[in-house]
Amino acid sequence: MAELTLDGVTKRFGDGDGSIVAVDDTSIDIDDGEFLVLVGPSGCGKSTTLRMIAGLETITEGEIVLDGRVINTEQPKDRDIAMVFQSYALYPHMTAQENMSFGLEESTDLADAEIKERVEEAAETMGIGELLDRKPSELSGGQQQRIALGRAIVRDPSVFLLDEPLSNLDAKLRSQMRTELQRLQDDLGVTTVYVTHDQTEAMTMGDRIAILDDGHLQQVGTPLECYHEPANRFVADFIGEPSMNFFEVERQDSTLVNDQFEYPLSEETIAELESSETDTTKLTLGIRPEDIDLVDAPETAHDFEAVVDVVEPRGDENSIYLTFADFTEREPFVASVHGLRTIDNDQSIVARIPESSIHLFDQETGRAVRNRRLEASEVTEPQL
Ligand code: ATP
Repeated sequence: MAELTLDGVTKRFGDGDGSIVAVDDTSIDIDDGEFLVLVGPSGCGKSTTLRMIAGLETITEGEIVLDGRVINTEQPKDRDIAMVFQSYALYPHMTAQENMSFGLEESTDLADAEIKERVEEAAETMGIGELLDRKPSELSGGQQQRIALGRAIVRDPSVFLLDEPLSNLDAKLRSQMRTELQRLQDDLGVTTVYVTHDQTEAMTMGDRIAILDDGHLQQVGTPLECYHEPANRFVADFIGEPSMNFFEVERQDSTLVNDQFEYPLSEETIAELESSETDTTKLTLGIRPEDIDLVDAPETAHDFEAVVDVVEPRGDENSIYLTFADFTEREPFVASVHGLRTIDNDQSIVARIPESSIHLFDQETGRAVRNRRLEASEVTEPQL
């Protein structure tokens, strides 16, 4: 069992005045065997959070608890936690075997034979058995990363901490290692906290993801919860590639208005907005690219004449950048369509923005006041 809890954890840096708040009052419960991904843009506090769990950084406030034991006062070596760094941090003068054994030799009184057995077992798991006699300079980046992971595995820790472990690898190897790491974590069942700035890694690897911005925890949820039911505009924008489209609008009774379009809302959505605790006059309308339908002619009140600005082929799907027909100078918005569908630059087209798929955010706070429907649409599009 290894349940890890961050309870009101805060880290302030700064010369005596603690003016830089790297992590602010963060609380997360991580279940035994869970794979939690900490994700966010550069400088949001991911590495600091991980380093506090590892004990490489002191905490300013709060508690870190592992299975009911407060560990933030313990030395890193006593925490039963193994960390894997982006830089691999292998000793260059040691062979892979020695790199993997070293920690155990230093921090445990295991017999040499037992250490050898553990290293060979971990090497087998990582598929690096034949590389054990090589030094890091004789290994590729991917092989070095496997040794670094193997070194963490031999310690048989309660918790793995992984800090951007795949970012030095090329795209193909990275996606291969993603799957491998997930399988490995699943087999070993070790509670894992994984840091990345890459939302694709977060979406594909995590049981749950915790999204940070500027030291503040924005949302903790399964990847699909964060994708479909973002807590706020930041999460909606950060998760998903291409990003969600956003339009600033003003609600005038039952219609969302800006200078490019008017978007009538159903009674159901209005009721949802009216029951919200915040002022829902100034809103941001969000729509994911794959939720915009491109059709030939307007049929519903949620269909808008548009012009194709740029077509970006991706193979499996195409990203179509559009502007509203009469406003071609404006910032384009993007729709995703099947890769085999032919759409040309400058083509006139109709963008359908179905009400069941729209998100509405409070413009001032960014908080989501209405997220898309996940069940089959109950909202009938108003016909023209
Ligand atoms: P990246 O993805 O770029 O590594 P991150 O999300 O891991 O970013 P952190 O390294 O945790 O971010 O840094 C969070 C904030 O704390 C940043 O503003 C950073 O400048 C600041 N910070 C980190 N370490 C220190 C330090 N030792 N002294 C002062 N400020 C620091």
